[in-house]
Amino acid sequence: MMKKYLLLVLWPLVFSSGIFLVACDSKQSVTGGTDTISEEDVAFDAFKENLLHKFWRLNPEWASSQGFHNYDTALVVPTANYRKNLERSYKGFLKELEAHALHKLSPNNRTDYYMIQNHLNKTIWEITEFEEYKWNPARYNIGSGVAEVLNSRHDNLTNRLRVIGEKLARSIIYYETAIDNLEKPTLEHTQLAILQNKGALTVFGPALQDSVAKSDLAPHEKEILKQRIEITRLAIENYLRHLEYKVLPAVSAGKSRSFRIGSSLYARKFNFDLESGFTANEIYQKAVLRKRKLHQEMLRLTEELWPKYFPGVPMPKGLPAVKSLISRISQNHVPKDSFLIAIQNHIPELVKFVNAKNLLTQDPTKPLKVRITPPYMQGIAGASVSAPGPYDKEAITYYNVMPITQYSPKAAESYLREYNRYMMQILNIHEAIPGHYTQLIYSNRSPSVIKAVLGNGAMIEGWAVYAEQMMLEEGYGNNSPELWLMWYKWNLRVTLNAILDYGVHVQNIKEAEAIKMLRDEGFQEEAEAQEKLRRATLSQVQLASYFTGFTEIHDLRQDLKKQQGKAFSLKNFHEQFLSYGSAPVRHIRELMLDD
Ligand code: ZN
Ligand code: ZN
Repeated sequence: MMKKYLLLVLWPLVFSSGIFLVACDSKQSVTGGTDTISEEDVAFDAFKENLLHKFWRLNPEWASSQGFHNYDTALVVPTANYRKNLERSYKGFLKELEAHALHKLSPNNRTDYYMIQNHLNKTIWEITEFEEYKWNPARYNIGSGVAEVLNSRHDNLTNRLRVIGEKLARSIIYYETAIDNLEKPTLEHTQLAILQNKGALTVFGPALQDSVAKSDLAPHEKEILKQRIEITRLAIENYLRHLEYKVLPAVSAGKSRSFRIGSSLYARKFNFDLESGFTANEIYQKAVLRKRKLHQEMLRLTEELWPKYFPGVPMPKGLPAVKSLISRISQNHVPKDSFLIAIQNHIPELVKFVNAKNLLTQDPTKPLKVRITPPYMQGIAGASVSAPGPYDKEAITYYNVMPITQYSPKAAESYLREYNRYMMQILNIHEAIPGHYTQLIYSNRSPSVIKAVLGNGAMIEGWAVYAEQMMLEEGYGNNSPELWLMWYKWNLRVTLNAILDYGVHVQNIKEAEAIKMLRDEGFQEEAEAQEKLRRATLSQVQLASYFTGFTEIHDLRQDLKKQQGKAFSLKNFHEQFLSYGSAPVRHIRELMLDD
């Protein structure tokens, strides 16, 4: 799980990019292989630079999240006028885009063209048809934007507090507009909004007041800021009261919409969000086949390992044997209070392995900091990576880990069994090295700012899943059958994610049925299954992105091997694949197979 996708679920307007770096970056992007830059490419680069400029002005919070700080003081009030203006502007951008001759552009600009086109159409569709602003109260949360400024390092504390002060000047109207926007919200998104806005209150608590007191703000500035923080707290509390005492009773009286978006919205969202070469239904079918294949492999390993863990005990038939064995191996987990430390200690081992096997070039100058997930981000994923945007390349990348020391003993035990000593290694490969963290560093180095900021979720998640398999194939863990068994279980989870998402939103499967599938066919612990169902409830399509991207990357590697024969190099494949930035795999495929 990575930050951008968390953000998509939790907050509005997470997309946009910046100005000053764009000019020099886009010049680099068109020099690949040729000495002359075509007129069409020059014109297209100018268009992109201008477009990003406009994106940032229209979406200041997206700009800040990408490390572009000129609009930090702006707080978008999500009014109908704002949406109308956005829709009108984006339709204009589409006309400008489509005036460029696609077939005359360089490969890099062609993929940028497709990504821009998709993003513009998607945003227009979200405003006019998907209308999440009506039914998802968790979109409205002032804490995330403020925390982002507070934690950023691009300026000193005093200036950052001034920025926060200006944002907070509009907090009352912001939350009033949020209340006006809501129309039959879903029960589940209302509950999430309550949880997360309570989390937002902690952003405006004693720590912020402390920072204000310690800062070099003039006394009258401190006074104004303190008042605004107080007013913001009141605005959030008022929003929480509205959700708890107006929205929730209406929801229980049957006046809410279902969290299931249905097959036609799902098919559209799948195309917009994943930009895959496959349709939603094709991916669902592939996932069902993959599930069967994984069950076969797991049964084979279970036969091999059974006597070691259950000497003298006859092995049951079928999947229950796999489940018993996994359950037995899951007892091998770290104690609750050393979970975070164990993750911290494992990261350097991964760095070493990737170097020893020459899998790709790493950048030792970019720090990765393991931390407890901040309260305003808690509630969706077990672990995630928060990476700096393309304008903030020197900022720290955080590896967020849920605060399990605060869990009840039963919940903690279930979590620890799920992330046992084997699974934790796979988790670290996925989230950190050479998964998300490594990919995002390459992405920020990519010559295309468009690709860095319109990052494709299926490529990003697909890469992390691909990285797990590749590490094991290269001998990470010395081919331990336990590790392979656990990886199959993990890969089964990715596969079931796609099946679950489609099942929940399109096939209307009941909650009990979903949990049963995750537990019996995915061998998941209760806590994991519940968390996954919760994500399927609160998000759409995102859960299918892992399997979709993984499938497409795997296919691409196979096809390249065929094309290149003995000349194929794994390191070159990885570095070239990552060098295009977070573009849809189907477009990277065009570029790599063209070469
Ligand atoms: Zn991930
Ligand atoms: Zn235990």
